[in-house]
Amino acid sequence: MSMNTQGRPTGTGNVTSSPANGAALLPNEPLLFEIGDTEHSGVDLPDVSIKRDRLGGFSRTLPLDLAGLTEPEAMRHYVRLSRLNYSIDSGMYPLGSCTMKHNPRLNEKMARLPGFADIHPLQPVSTVQGALALMDQLAHWLMTLTNTAAVALSPKAGAHGELLGMMAIKAAQTARGEGHRKVVLVPESAHGTNPATAAFLGYSVKAIPARADGTVDVTAVREALSPDVAAIMLTNPNTCGLFEPQVIEIAEAVHDAGAFFYCDGANFNAIMGVVRPGDLGIDAMHINLHKTFSTPHGGGGPGAGPVVLSAALAPFAPVPFVQRTESGLELVEHSEGEALGRITAFQGQMGMYVRALTYMLSHGSDGLAQAAKDAVLNANYVKARLQTVFSVPFPDQPCMHEALFDDSFLNQTGVSTLDFAKALIDKGFHPMTMYFPLVVHGAMLVEPTESESKQTLDQFCDVMLELASDAIAGNMQNFLSAPVNAPRRRMDETRAARSPILKWEREEVVSEAAQ
Ligand SMILES: *Cc1c(COP(=O)(O)O)cnc(C)c1O
Repeated sequence: MSMNTQGRPTGTGNVTSSPANGAALLPNEPLLFEIGDTEHSGVDLPDVSIKRDRLGGFSRTLPLDLAGLTEPEAMRHYVRLSRLNYSIDSGMYPLGSCTMKHNPRLNEKMARLPGFADIHPLQPVSTVQGALALMDQLAHWLMTLTNTAAVALSPKAGAHGELLGMMAIKAAQTARGEGHRKVVLVPESAHGTNPATAAFLGYSVKAIPARADGTVDVTAVREALSPDVAAIMLTNPNTCGLFEPQVIEIAEAVHDAGAFFYCDGANFNAIMGVVRPGDLGIDAMHINLHKTFSTPHGGGGPGAGPVVLSAALAPFAPVPFVQRTESGLELVEHSEGEALGRITAFQGQMGMYVRALTYMLSHGSDGLAQAAKDAVLNANYVKARLQTVFSVPFPDQPCMHEALFDDSFLNQTGVSTLDFAKALIDKGFHPMTMYFPLVVHGAMLVEPTESESKQTLDQFCDVMLELASDAIAGNMQNFLSAPVNAPRRRMDETRAARSPILKWEREEVVSEAAQ
């Protein structure tokens, strides 16, 4: 391990300790190709003699080069890797803006029912009526909770939903001869996916400054509006964890200017069952099933980002969607007129639909509202306990589902936000979101979610306060060397981003190339 002048470990992923007592404890897990070799096979199969080439001359001539491993060898490799992970199943995950809530096991049980788990997207629809009914019911819940006219289930993540929502807005404007609208307004506090989506679709992005209290000023929006503006992309509750108090006035101003209101609904967990975004005047909004409705995410599973649409945008929804007919449920797979066509293969993340609907049905509409209120209560509890020491950039109002702190309490300590987060790893917690939103210096965004008990919240707050007093007392070294209890220490993130090694090559090949 090399050290830079401040004594911080550098270099990519140094192993902290390497116990010699067996592979199961080796933190530096080798690749499958390094464990097995191509000469052996994990199973004994009789020799096959291929009599006739049925591949039209395309049969492989080079060896397949797969590592031959037995089932236990392969399984142990993956189990060992999984133990290097921090997960919501192993501890609190206060990552702001991510809603890392508990994934109820009932969801998993339902998703494994063979009628949902073992079906194929190309099966005749008459054989998957139950699955279509589930999609129809999920769509109904999403439209009811948001008071909107249509929903596109198929986007596979929040960012994918943003893309679809903005494509629908673009299609609607093109259809009414307003394709010249080329500007999208995005508040400074927005998630990076908002401006990225707008730019990807060829829009230019105009930033709306935040007010001193962390919210968006309707006057600033009015000043930015012009006949060139296609839409605003506004997050509500916003990424400072605050409900936008002027959201209705903003919607009206945007509509008066002939533009659309795209709402980033990733923070819907704070208001589900309490506020219907359709009542606020939104035209399109993605909902992260993997945040709000407890489907696994992060390393745990694929996302799903359905988009609800207002009546004005409903005709531009993509296919496929489920439709009720006399003879049962149908999957409409071809679009007519101005519609967008399809944006994914097949129908989207079926397993996530099952989990999300299970969560909705097991809570009921009153239970969902309670979950939202509990998420807000938990965040305010953390804020109240920590604000005696941690600096709060927007102290005058209660927060929604996440509590935002800045790094001014670390001034003069020599400890940075990053150091602080790394020290939290040594205390057994996943760090909070750091340096986001960008409008706050050294931001630390804590989202406890409703699924943590008071006891866990207290443990977390105790650790946060202990670390803060350590930093303030000048015990810098613990921070600069952290994490010491993690399988990997500090990564050279710049090098990893600038010169990533994306392909593994056998050592012989690498040394041959070097010669
Ligand atoms: C998570 C998030 C997104 C993007 O969602 P993905 O599913 O990660 O693509 C967008 N906006 C906000 C505010 C988010 O928190």
